[in-house]
Amino acid sequence: MDPQREIQMHGHPNRAGWFTAGKVECDPIPPPREHPARIILLGPPGVGKGTQAVRLCARLRACHLSTGDVLRHAQCQHDRSPAMQAAIECMTRGELVAEELIIELVRERAGCLRCQGGFLLDGFPRTLRQAQALDQILADLGIQLDAAVCFELPLDQIVDRLSGRRVCPKCRLTYHVTAQPPSAAGICDGCGAALEQRADDRPESIAVRMKLYEEETQPLLQHYERAGLLVRVMASGSPDEIHLRAIETLQRQIDVPAPSAAPA
Ligand code: AMP
Repeated sequence: MDPQREIQMHGHPNRAGWFTAGKVECDPIPPPREHPARIILLGPPGVGKGTQAVRLCARLRACHLSTGDVLRHAQCQHDRSPAMQAAIECMTRGELVAEELIIELVRERAGCLRCQGGFLLDGFPRTLRQAQALDQILADLGIQLDAAVCFELPLDQIVDRLSGRRVCPKCRLTYHVTAQPPSAAGICDGCGAALEQRADDRPESIAVRMKLYEEETQPLLQHYERAGLLVRVMASGSPDEIHLRAIETLQRQIDVPAPSAAPA
């Protein structure tokens, strides 16, 4: 199997605690680290944060905590609260979910932020208000962030990546119709399910998401720059090239385990 697929399928724990807000424990529970990495990922939709998050998690041996994944997971569950249903409808239209709700979703998952395995938070915070809420949640937990990694890419390349992205609804592997196609068109290499285009990757939703990013998320960069935590990474090139660039840049800021120490 392609090494990238291996990493995508096996590179991180099952995140049951994250999906269920701690009602179910992760299996296995991540082992404690002497210096757990605690990182947030920033960057526009389609820049490749999800792909890089999985690789960074495998290298740093930290857990991938994506708020978008929480909502997509809830979309497949039958017992959704009215608030969660409203949040899912916002996501489908490409809009941001209400601040109070998304902050509450993260707050009730604080156990994952405290986890001694460390974390890469992906998709949160997206606004200054969310960043301030996260600062407070972490301060209450007595935890400090190590870095805010921002992946950057010109707009035309972002639109191309988003409109060509396909996802497996069963095992969540991601593909791109030209840059990273499955072996058989439209079929997941991992589990054989029919691939889908995310509703918010359609052109009308992409336009909404890019506008929101510029308005809401850009001020975050200044917030983390002022805190001395911002690490900028150019996200052009292959996933491997971007990953190496991210590691080289991060090594200046945090203690990155050697590659041989990462799980197979
Ligand atoms: P993502 O997978 O991070 O692109 O998130 C998918 C969708 O989930 C977004 O377009 C939003 O509708 C919603 N979402 C995820 N995280 C947040 C957040 N921090 N604030 C508001 N909405 C969010």
